[in-house]
Parts: sequence; C-alpha cells; structure tokens
Amino acid sequence: LLAGLGLLFFGVALYISHRMSRRAMVPIQASYTKQREFVADASHELRTPLSVMLSSIDALEMEQTEETDPFSRKLLSGMKEEVKRMSRLVGDLLTLARSDMPEYRLQRELFDLEPYARSAAESMQGLAAAKGIRLEAAFSGSLQIVGDAERLKQLLYILLDNAVKYTPEGGEVRLSLRAEGSEAARRLVLEVQDTGIGIAPEDRLRIFDRFYRADKARNRQQGGHGLGLAIAKWIVDAHGGSIAVESAPGRGSAFNVRLPAAREM
Ligand code: ADP
Repeated sequence: LLAGLGLLFFGVALYISHRMSRRAMVPIQASYTKQREFVADASHELRTPLSVMLSSIDALEMEQTEETDPFSRKLLSGMKEEVKRMSRLVGDLLTLARSDMPEYRLQRELFDLEPYARSAAESMQGLAAAKGIRLEAAFSGSLQIVGDAERLKQLLYILLDNAVKYTPEGGEVRLSLRAEGSEAARRLVLEVQDTGIGIAPEDRLRIFDRFYRADKARNRQQGGHGLGLAIAKWIVDAHGGSIAVESAPGRGSAFNVRLPAAREM
C-alpha cells in the first residue's frame, strides 16, 4: 500500500512540475498582471492533479480490508484531509486571482436570495449538529436582489462555516436575512451571529486581509487558510454592499452584510 502511495505522489509531482515548467518558460515580468495570471494559471493547473489524487485515495480506501494495518489507514485518511484542504486553498486562490482581473465580470440576474440562504443553512446543519451547535435561520420581507447567485451563495457558506468553526460545542449560530429602508434605497441585511470565541479588537479590520488569521496557534487546528473573509469582502464590494463585524472576545461575533436590494417592479 505504502509503495503504491509513494508511486502516486511521485507521478503527481512529476505531472505538476512538467506542467509548471512549460509556464516558467515565459520570461518573468515583474508586473502585477503577470503575477496575477501566474497565480490563476498555477491554481487552475493544480486542480486536476488534486482531484486525481483525491479519487485515487478514495479508490485505495475502497481496497482496505479488515487486515489493513491501522498505520496505513491513518496515513491514508491524513492524506485525504490534506488533499481536501489543498483543493480548497487552490479553489480560493483561483477565485481571488480572477477577482483581481479587470475583465472578470460577475453575473447580474434578478433572483430571490431566500432559497439560497435556506439551503446554505440546511447544508450547515449536519456540521453544526456534530458539534452540538444550534443553528437557526430567520427571513423576512421581499429578498429579491440583482447579482451573482453563485457568489452570494459562496458568501453565505463562508460566513456560516466560520460561525460554526469558531464556536465551541453547545453554542448557537443564527442567520437572519431581511429587507430594510424605503423604496428608493432598499437594502438586504444579512447577519450571521455566533456565540463563539470572538475576535480581538486589533484583529477586527485585518481579518478581511488575504491570509490573515487571528490567533494562529489556536486557529491551526481549525484547518482554514485565511482567504474566506477576503473572498467574502470581494463578493460584497462587487455587489455595491458593505460588510462589518462586531465582536466580544469569548462571547461571540456578528457579521453584518448590507446589499442593495432589487427595486420592486
Ligand atoms: P479562515 O477561517 O480560513 O482562517 P477567514 O478569512 O474566513 O479564514 O477568517 C480569517 C480569520 O478571522 C480566522 O482565521 C479567524 O481568526 C477569524 N474569524 C472569522 N470568522 C470568525 C468567527 N465567526 N468567530 C471568530 N473568529 C472568526
């Protein structure tokens, strides 16, 4: 089994270096555009070998029998976790690199945000329940918006995932979505509150920076990489909205997003 794994890694490393060396032949220009393109290309190239690795690991897991020794099992499941983590990182890097490109455009369609928020809350229920966290969602008013549904869904997942991740067992997470303001300036207000570890005042602005993670020692076991809120902020900005956080360390946090609502016909 171990020899098989070694071979697999060697093959994937060879594949990546081959694909990357083709890119490296382009003379490196010290321009921001080139750098951005490089990150986008590299992340894009890494996605295929990573998904190959993941399916190979799945196949190896299926091969396991009662006789498989516990050490190999542990190695394999550790490897699977790391590959999944790397896939998330690569996906986030690609999103951010694309977000920096002036030619990148968000979709603009009219839709109701409520079903997306409901399904995001429902999909997080399992994760929350596993930690004994109560997750509640409340909606009110007309929640029509003109924007990019996929991106707004991603925003909901980032905020809910963080709330569950940074809330200890037995806590509470609450998602609320409502409309407010007069017809001329209607806004959708999305709030994700938790009773988790909270965020120190000196970290509150920096958590939206790329790769910034407050309290790295404590965060290491949570398995993130500090890109979620940078992506969340980009999505909100790109929709002409604002994002803010209030927090009491040790008591919880509340992320508040305001987005322009669609005008009623
Ligand atoms: P990640 O969660 O992958 O580290 P994010 O960009 O989503 O990256 O968040 C950046 C940092 O902000 C986290 O590392 C954590 O320190 C802090 N943070 C985000 N959401 C919360 C929350 N709900 N409660 C406490 N801390 C949070």
